[in-house]
Amino acid sequence: MAARAGGAAGERRILCVGLVCLDIISVVETFPAEDSDTSFIAADFQRRGVDTAHVAWQTRGDVPCACCIVNASSGSRTIVLHDTNLPDVTARDFERVDLSQYKWIHFEARNAAEQEAMLERVERHNLAAAPGQRVRISVEVEKPREELLPLMGRGQVVFISKDLAQHFGYRSAPEALRGLRGRIQSGATLICAWAEEGADAVGPDGKLVHSDAFPPETLVDTLGAGDTFNAAVIFALAEGRTLQDALTFGCRIAGRKCGIQGFDGII
Ligand code: ADP
Repeated sequence: MAARAGGAAGERRILCVGLVCLDIISVVETFPAEDSDTSFIAADFQRRGVDTAHVAWQTRGDVPCACCIVNASSGSRTIVLHDTNLPDVTARDFERVDLSQYKWIHFEARNAAEQEAMLERVERHNLAAAPGQRVRISVEVEKPREELLPLMGRGQVVFISKDLAQHFGYRSAPEALRGLRGRIQSGATLICAWAEEGADAVGPDGKLVHSDAFPPETLVDTLGAGDTFNAAVIFALAEGRTLQDALTFGCRIAGRKCGIQGFDGII
């Protein structure tokens, strides 16, 4: 799936490459929400001003769907994912994207071989483009799957999850950054969020940067906190803000998200 956030006509935008899953949220104490489908997701994107022009609509497979049980007292969540046979977006789908429209493309690591080909296309575009027209690339590796790990070497900004870090045996974000930094390309930035402990990052200068979390008064719903964090960090970096600023902004917005149900009223 591909989408863009905001921006005036003619302004280069941010593109996301990944997959959309329908989350049906049940807050314990309330009756589960009713089932829904693709039209719900499309309408939701439209309502939020996300351009879905590049979405690769599939003719087979169903919308992946997760039933999420949110603990009303702690905001923690349990996710039961019904993964379906929906194909991932391919390098061929990606060829339809006019790269000159985008200043940043974010890849959610999923189907490594196809995404390697997409990344090659963006890298070729960047070699030929004037410096101000290059597309910045970020990659998020969330799942500890062996074939996804080489993608860490392909982004200028790389997000790794607490899950991935723990899979490698690291017990904190700084420890994970020190241990996994060798896997990113030189000049790149590695970022690791760690739930209520906030997030850490290491930039091209090798200096470790940290932001504490911003816990809300009442923890309501942490589902999507990681994606909120990533989006806010990318937004801030794309605006030219420093790594420290972007990390703090990411934690601030993600913290706010944890204090509300869903995403309405996050900013
Ligand atoms: P996910 O599990 O959704 O991937 P993370 O646990 O990586 O999310 O958290 C991402 C960011 O969200 C953290 O860096 C932090 O800023 C914020 N966050 C997550 N959980 C909490 C919490 N319990 N309290 C405050 N902030 C939180």
